[in-house]
Amino acid sequence: MEEQILKEAVRDGLLAAWREDNRVHRRRIGQYYPSGLGSCLRRQYYEYVDPRPPEPETLAVFATGKGIHEAVADALSNSSSVKVERVELPVKLKISEEASLSGRVDILLAEIAGKKAIVEVKSTSTLPSEPHLGHVMQLQTYLHALDLDLGLILYWDKKTGELECFRSLRDVSWLQEVGERVVILHEHLKAGRPPRKEAYEEGRYWQCDLCPYKTTCDPYSLPGVPAGSRLAVFGTVAEQQEGVPPGEVRPEPGALARKAGQAKLEGDVVVVLSDLQAPQSDRVMSALNGANVQFDVFFPKPRAVRSAVYWKAELVRRLSEKHKVRSFADPVARAAELVAPYTERREVLG
Ligand code: SF4
Repeated sequence: MEEQILKEAVRDGLLAAWREDNRVHRRRIGQYYPSGLGSCLRRQYYEYVDPRPPEPETLAVFATGKGIHEAVADALSNSSSVKVERVELPVKLKISEEASLSGRVDILLAEIAGKKAIVEVKSTSTLPSEPHLGHVMQLQTYLHALDLDLGLILYWDKKTGELECFRSLRDVSWLQEVGERVVILHEHLKAGRPPRKEAYEEGRYWQCDLCPYKTTCDPYSLPGVPAGSRLAVFGTVAEQQEGVPPGEVRPEPGALARKAGQAKLEGDVVVVLSDLQAPQSDRVMSALNGANVQFDVFFPKPRAVRSAVYWKAELVRRLSEKHKVRSFADPVARAAELVAPYTERREVLG
């Protein structure tokens, strides 16, 4: 019994601290936070219009991150090779007459190798090979707010304690990107209309999986297609490295037209996936239209996605949460293999 009481007490305490912090830093339209700006803008929209307490596990992860921030600040304060000037320094950056960004710099170093620098500390379960864009965006906001040139992002692996560090010099192009994102969020909040499903459209499905607003956003619904519909999904390939001659699309559009027509006769919704991103995917669309392929939904590969094969499998898995994926056909055998748990029938269609 005591064990349960203790666990509940930790959760209660974390939630109480979150509520207090939320009361003090209540979100209001016009005031935005650099820490969230790199993630899905639609999720941030919901955080303003429908704030919800995070799950206890998420609060525990935040607390772990906070502990790591403090450990790094203490370690640097005790080091003789750098000089810590401030920790948790509040900063503000005006974006427009109506909108500004407010945040806290983790650590401001008075001196590292003869320079002044900002350090952003990030705890992670896997050290990245390059810094996450959202973290660079946050750091760049602080560099511009404090008029400094050098920023460092320090990753701390929570499991192994290993460190990785990346340097980022102040760059005005980031300020433009940050400003554009703030303005998009601000205008949507003023209009009371959510922005596009950014994480979903850009193939960052893991963000949707963890999103507390997934039910509200409904990212995997297909426009005009009722939940539970039967889908026939066709993957297309138009890249030379898959053995496809330049300018050609596989499966051969005539064969695809026959297969898609048969699926339509059986009452399936036909979904086509292209391994080309927009606007290059327009030529796949023209090849399909030229062969009179009957399809209902067309997905170009999101720009940031590297592997088309894994993207197709990941998307089919998510679509199968809302629909019944009756069949999947693709010229690449590996793609057909990967979707096996989520589909009734698979085919390699050359
Ligand atoms: S479900 Fe995905 S697209 Fe929708 S708000 Fe959440 S992260 Fe963004």
